[in-house]
Order: sequence, then structure tokens, then C-alpha cells
Amino acid sequence: MTNIAVFSSKKWVTDSFGKNLPEGINVKFFEARLSRETAALSDGYDGVCVFVNDDVSKDVLDILAAKGIGLVALRCAGFNNVDIEYAAKKGITVVRVPAYSPFAVAEHALGLILALNRKYYRAYNRVRDGNFSLDGLLGFDIHGKTVGIIGTGKIGQIFAGLMAGFGCRLLAYDKFPSKELEARGVEYVDLETLYKESDIISLHCPLTHETYHLINTYAIRTMKEGIMIINTSRGPLIDSDAVIWGMKEGIIGYLGLDVYEEEGDLFFEDLSDQVIQDDTFVRLETFPNVLITAHQAFFTKEAVDNIAATTFENIQAFFNGTPRNVVEPSTLIRKSGI
Ligand code: NAD
Repeated sequence: MTNIAVFSSKKWVTDSFGKNLPEGINVKFFEARLSRETAALSDGYDGVCVFVNDDVSKDVLDILAAKGIGLVALRCAGFNNVDIEYAAKKGITVVRVPAYSPFAVAEHALGLILALNRKYYRAYNRVRDGNFSLDGLLGFDIHGKTVGIIGTGKIGQIFAGLMAGFGCRLLAYDKFPSKELEARGVEYVDLETLYKESDIISLHCPLTHETYHLINTYAIRTMKEGIMIINTSRGPLIDSDAVIWGMKEGIIGYLGLDVYEEEGDLFFEDLSDQVIQDDTFVRLETFPNVLITAHQAFFTKEAVDNIAATTFENIQAFFNGTPRNVVEPSTLIRKSGI
């Protein structure tokens, strides 16, 4: 029997992992996030299973290695929270779920665009309150607008297809342009052109040293006035203070976030009876043209089932001596991504 300690186990995890549990694997669900303080819980297990905001940095890997853990199974695609090189040094294999539903994330990005543009969140509250005024709800036709896509991997490509359906002009930036997308009419341009010409920018690249704070004051200065920025990728792609400045200056007209740079202390928890200590997050929430969801873009039935099934296949493969979906230090150059 293979014993796995599953960290950050919310209800959807216990439900989907419980439903998909294969014979030969025993799981213990811990609600706690993996961190230096909780890593000792892995004592007596063969591997750990973690999610986007678990801390798998050097100190934690040292503890896991000392406990004899040989496998870190990410139940997500992104691995920016794992020190991959150090894990390799400690002899710990890291596996992930590279794709489970790129549709879920691309569709959520589109949802943020529609909701921000037509202000559904305001309209919903108004109508419930008996206020049928249209003042302040004016939107724009998405048809004919220029959409800039940064990162045209699995999710970016599906997002491109959705926006093409609206009749948008599509610009893209990627270190590895896709010939297939080009053939479908997407124009690859440099970042400066994308910033200058786009009405909507959607981020679909991984978080790496290169993309950290990609959207900063300098980038915002080059954007069209009234730009809509959508981030369903990773929080630190955006410098939060810079976007607050950009919104106060009137350069950023709309901001849709499913991820936030300091989300680890907030997202996935019910903090509704507590004082939020993150002043930057609270400031972001005060803008009428900001819509934040709490890292839910991946959260569809199809995606959650695929995550559970692939995670268990990865665990079985590793302990059968045929590892798959392994994150090697060399993978860092191209990918990372939930
Ligand atoms: P992918 O690996 O298929 O595609 C990523 C693309 O980004 C690749 O084409 C790659 O060449 C490109 N890229 C790499 N470095 C770049 C750079 N410096 N500048 C521009 N492009 C660069 O990944 P994916 O499955 O499409 O996922 C994209 C991102 O979405 C992930 O990195 C992850 O962070 C995020 N994500 C979020 C959620 C969520 O729930 N919010 C869920 C899944 C994935």
C-alpha cells in the first residue's frame, strides 16, 4: 500500500480524490497547507500531494527528505511554488498534472471580460435592490476590438479561439510562437506593440523569473487609455501597486483577476468574519472596475475529475518505477503553470 499525505485538502479535494481513489493507494487528507510548520505531518508517508499555494521551498524539501519522502505530486500544472532544482538534489521526484481542462481557464478569462465590460456584478445587486437604473452600466462591443494574448500555450490558444468567435483582432506574444495560431490569423508581435495596440490584454504565460511583474509601471505607461487587463495565470505576473497607480491615472479601465500576488494568505479560506490585513488587496477591491475571483478558473467538474485521476496515475506510475509527468529542472525553461 502506498501512503500519501494530501495537503490543502478542501472539500472539493476530499470529494474528488475520494471518488477516484484507486486500489493500492491510501490517502490521508490534511486541511493545512504544506509549510515549514506542517511538513512534519508527512512522517510515515511515502509521498505528499500538494496544490498551488503549498510551500515546497528548500526548507520544506529538507524536512520532506529527512522523513524519507520520495515524491511530491502536484495536483496542478504550475510548479512555481516548488524549488525543482533543490528537489532533484534531494532525490525527490516532482510530478504534476500538465493539462486537465484548458477550457475551464480560458472560459473563466472570457467570463471576467464579459462581467467587467457589462458590469454584471453591479447589475445583479442593483436589480435585487429594486434599482433598475442603467447609469454607470454602459459597456462596449467586444466585436472588432484588439485582444492581446501573452502566452499562447494550451490555455492561450483556446482563449484565442473564443475571442476569434467574437470577431476580435488577435495579437499575441510568446517566446515560442505557434504556427497553427498564426495560420488561424493571430499576429505575433513584440510586447511593446501588444501593449500599445490592445484594448484587452489577457495573461496566459507561466510565472518565471522573466515574467515576474511583467505588468509593471513601465508597461502600463505604454498601454491604451482604458485598457482591460485580465490575469488568470499567476498573481506575481502583475505588480499590484503598479496597477493601482494605473487605475488611479485612468490608464487601466478594467482589471479582472483570478490570481493575486499575495493570494497564499487569502485564497481558498473563508475569512468573511475577519479583518483583511492586506491593504493592497483591500485597495484593489475598492475600485468599481476591478473584479476579483479567488483562483477558481480551473474549478469545473471536468477539470477536478481529471486532476484527481491524473494525480493518482502519476503516483501509481512513480511507485511502479515508470514515472510520468515529471517536472525536471530543464522543464523550467519552457513551462510552468494551475
Ligand atoms: P502552457 O505551458 O501550455 O503554455 C504556456 C505558454 O507560455 C507557452 O506557450 C510558453 O511558450 C509561453 N511562455 C513561457 N515563457 C514566456 C514568456 N516569458 N513570455 C511569453 N510567453 C511565455 O501552459 P497553460 O496550460 O496554457 O497554462 C498557462 C498558465 O495558466 C499557467 O502557467 C498557469 O500559471 C495558469 N493557470 C491558471 C489556472 C487558474 O485556475 N487560474 C489554472 C491553470 C493554469
